[in-house]
Amino acid sequence: MTTDPEWDAAVVGGGLAGIAAALTLADHGRRVVLLEQTRRLGGRASSFVDPTTGEELDNCQHVVMGCCTNYRALIDRLGMADAFAWSRDQWWVSAGGRTDRIAPGLLPAPAHHAGSFLRASFLTAGDKLGIARAMARLARVDPGAWRDRSFAEFLADTGQTRRAVARFWRPVVVSACNAEPEHAGADLAMKVFREGLMAGAEAGSIGVPRVPLARLYEGVPGLLERHGSSVRFGAFATRIHPGPPATIELRDAEPVRAERVILALPFERVASVLDPSFHDPRVEALSGLAHSPILGVHLRLDRPVLPTPHAVLVDRPTQWLFRKDDDGRAVHAVVSAADDWTALPDEAITARVVEDLRACYPDAGPFTVEWSRPVRSKRATFLARPGVHAHRPPVAASDSPLLLAGDYTDTGWPATMEGAVRSGIAAAAAVLGRDPATMLTPDLPFAPLASAVMRRRA
Ligand SMILES: Cc1cc2nc3c(=O)[nH]c(=O)nc-3n(C[C@H](O)[C@H](O)[C@H](O)COP(=O)(O)OP(=O)(O)OC[C@H]3O[C@@H](n4cnc5c(N)ncnc54)[C@H](O)[C@@H]3O)c2cc1C
Repeated sequence: MTTDPEWDAAVVGGGLAGIAAALTLADHGRRVVLLEQTRRLGGRASSFVDPTTGEELDNCQHVVMGCCTNYRALIDRLGMADAFAWSRDQWWVSAGGRTDRIAPGLLPAPAHHAGSFLRASFLTAGDKLGIARAMARLARVDPGAWRDRSFAEFLADTGQTRRAVARFWRPVVVSACNAEPEHAGADLAMKVFREGLMAGAEAGSIGVPRVPLARLYEGVPGLLERHGSSVRFGAFATRIHPGPPATIELRDAEPVRAERVILALPFERVASVLDPSFHDPRVEALSGLAHSPILGVHLRLDRPVLPTPHAVLVDRPTQWLFRKDDDGRAVHAVVSAADDWTALPDEAITARVVEDLRACYPDAGPFTVEWSRPVRSKRATFLARPGVHAHRPPVAASDSPLLLAGDYTDTGWPATMEGAVRSGIAAAAAVLGRDPATMLTPDLPFAPLASAVMRRRA
């Protein structure tokens, strides 16, 4: 005799997509079980205890932009908004120590960065003219028309100087899309400039967590339990039959049965956990996705070196630095699209980062490294290459019981925490039979002038 499933829904994977899906369902009265293979929530955006020091370290520094409305709403819901330090300033530091602060000024968006940008010393007048020309094109462009072309093609089309590409465009694209401009889909890179940097000062502000990432999600189990739902840690799904009702076979535990299942796994795991007799063209299309690595390097120095909360290093292999203490001895360095780095031994990685630090902060003097810990994420994100949209599946399909959630689904965002959260809410909406648009937190409105001069989505 078959019994009714114990749960209305099971969500497999406790990353941001899974957390968002589970909380949304629980908020709408569904009994949901969230199954996570590890002992922590947050997935790739989490932290771990370093065995040598006992310190809790992030997999890698994660930053959020003001335009990430759904991730911010999730953080608010978890009562963790105060755990973020927000700033509208960016510090661009060149070899020799010259620092340019890029910040919104008196002009209205989309020209709000123009004043500090015109003063910036790391670009020549010719570079700036080209950048202004490209920004004007970006305001009017239809990103969808560019989705099969690379952002490098757009830069060539707008006549950018080599220096402007190396010093300005590349650092932004590589950090936001985790791909070099020649490998990055133009539509995704355009989204970053248009909705992040041009739409308004709040959209472009940068939020950096002040606590280890896993702490941000510690409230999730309590919230779910309050609604009669549950999180199971150490629950490794080995085989999933999407049903409905769905059966999730677990290693070392009884199978879980639920009316619906949401797979909130990294894309490379999806096909391998599904019952081999189950076919869905969305899953087959995932074989067209590739990975792109990110490297995070935790450093402790013997003296203060980094004077600002964060910094972009101009035209250096190390792209971003984050200050992890009050005086700049604890520094976290980030290298996105880190293909040239991941095979290097730890010492070589540290040496390369230290070389960049010494070049950009000569005033710090001959500091020494007391401790360093590189963290390689070889499968950090999908590679946001031109044409990648063809392999990014919708979360739901009318002819399939399978619901997918994850940063790789067709969110229109690069691989980000925001994209992951949006996909989880959209998958929950599909379970509830609701239009996801009615459940997502709306985008920030464009500032009035930006709204008047910029073309919105086609
Ligand atoms: C180094 C690095 C830096 C990044 N920096 C940023 C940044 O600054 N800003 C930003 O917005 N984004 C950043 N990202 C991207 C961001 O982390 C991801 O886009 C987002 O966290 C993906 O969430 P997800 O839920 O889709 O997937 P995941 O986080 O991968 O979650 C999947 C979950 O499924 C679990 N799982 C896997 N297999 C099983 C199984 N068989 N059974 C049960 N559970 C399973 C995993 O343990 C994991 O918890 C970065 C990513 C990395 C790796």
